[in-house]
Amino acid sequence: MTEIRLITFDLDNTLWDVGEVLHHAEQQMRQWLDANVPEYTRTLDRDALTKIRTAVVTERPQLGHNVSALRQEVLFRGIVSCGYPATEARRYARSAFATFFQARQEVVFFEHALEALGELAASYQLGALTNGNADIQRVGLDRFFSFAFSSADVAASKPAPDIFHAALNHAGVAPQQCIHVGDNLIDDVHGAGSVGMHTIWVKLSDQPNTIGHTQPSEVVEDLAELPGAVSRIHTA
Ligand SMILES: [Mg+2]
Repeated sequence: MTEIRLITFDLDNTLWDVGEVLHHAEQQMRQWLDANVPEYTRTLDRDALTKIRTAVVTERPQLGHNVSALRQEVLFRGIVSCGYPATEARRYARSAFATFFQARQEVVFFEHALEALGELAASYQLGALTNGNADIQRVGLDRFFSFAFSSADVAASKPAPDIFHAALNHAGVAPQQCIHVGDNLIDDVHGAGSVGMHTIWVKLSDQPNTIGHTQPSEVVEDLAELPGAVSRIHTA
């Protein structure tokens, strides 16, 4: 019998569709920029912004793990390239990012996500592990999750073991007492599996069925199946 004491969750594309959220947040940010720094969207096309982003990550590789700081730095350099002085550009970058960040928290949960979390939170400690910048308080998940770690917190992105170790140390549990739940076969299933955690692959979309070198302990195609998958691992 495996005694499970902790369940960690990926957020984006596991509990909501992040594509729609980011698209909307970027639209909101663009509108803010059009109103306040009109040169930005007029002069910087996608290619120009990609170039800036590449330059930032090359110079400061650690920002590759901090999507918020990276986005702000790209905004800052883009605004400077439009001819604004640095202090003003810094202020505009901060405000444009704040607009993005607020909209980025307006997620629409997948069907059965909240019911499954509520049910699991009654019996297990839950935590969030994300490479992104969703905020568990702002999205309203702090009632289920007792902690959250992001790639920015540990300066390393999944599938690196750092974030999984951070969760295990925080909760004081062994890897075999933990299940990690996520949609990504590399970042979530392979990453958590490599540190010895059980894994549940949330396969909600038409992802390729080819499971690589790390086999998930369970697969769910609907979040309503999550409590059942957890108890199968728990009682195995
Ligand atoms: Mg994900």
